Amino acid sequence: MKRRELFSSLVSSFKEDKQEKVLRPPYFKDEDVFFTNCTQCDGKCSTVCEENIIQIQEDKTPKLNFEEGGCTYCDECAKVCEYEVLNIEDKQNINAIIQIDTQTCLSWNKIMCFSCKDPCLDDAIEFFAMFKPVINEACTSCGFCIQYCPSGAITIKN
Ligand code: SF4
Ligand code: SF4
Ligand code: SF4
Repeated sequence: MKRRELFSSLVSSFKEDKQEKVLRPPYFKDEDVFFTNCTQCDGKCSTVCEENIIQIQEDKTPKLNFEEGGCTYCDECAKVCEYEVLNIEDKQNINAIIQIDTQTCLSWNKIMCFSCKDPCLDDAIEFFAMFKPVINEACTSCGFCIQYCPSGAITIKN
C-alpha cells in the first residue's frame, strides 16, 4: 500500500471510530437490515411508541432519542414492524452504556441532588457516601434517567 493510501485509510477508520452510533429499538439482530428493509416502510414503529422516543431519520431508519423519555421495552415497535427488522424474539437490552460524568454531576461536586434516583425503576443508581451516584449492573440502558439530570451529566456511550 502506498503512503498516501495508507494515510487515507487511517483517516477514514479514525472518522468511523468518532462517528456516534445510532441507538436502535431493542429488537434487532442485524444492523444492516435497517438499511435494506426500512426504506420500504413509512416508519410505523415511531407511530406506536408510547414514549415517543423513536425518530425516523432521513435514511428512513429508526433512531432512539432519550431527550424526553425512555424505553419501557413494551414490544409495541416490534409487534408493528412488518418488514422483519424488529422482532420480539430478538429482544435485548439497548446497546449502550449509561454513565454519570463525575465532572458535571452536581452530587459528585458536593451539591445535594437525587434527581436521577427515583426515576430509575430498576434501582440501578446507587449513591455512595450520599454524594457519589454510580450506575450499577442492573441498568437496562432504558434512558429514563437522562431527562431528569439538571446538569446533563448522564451520558450515553455506545
Ligand atoms: S416499523 Fe420496522 S421497517 Fe418500519 S421503520 Fe420501523 S424498524 Fe423499519
Ligand atoms: S419497546 Fe416500546 S417504548 Fe421501547 S422503543 Fe419500542 S415502542 Fe418505544
Ligand atoms: S440507570 Fe439505567 S436502568 Fe436506571 S433509568 Fe438510567 S438508563 Fe434506565
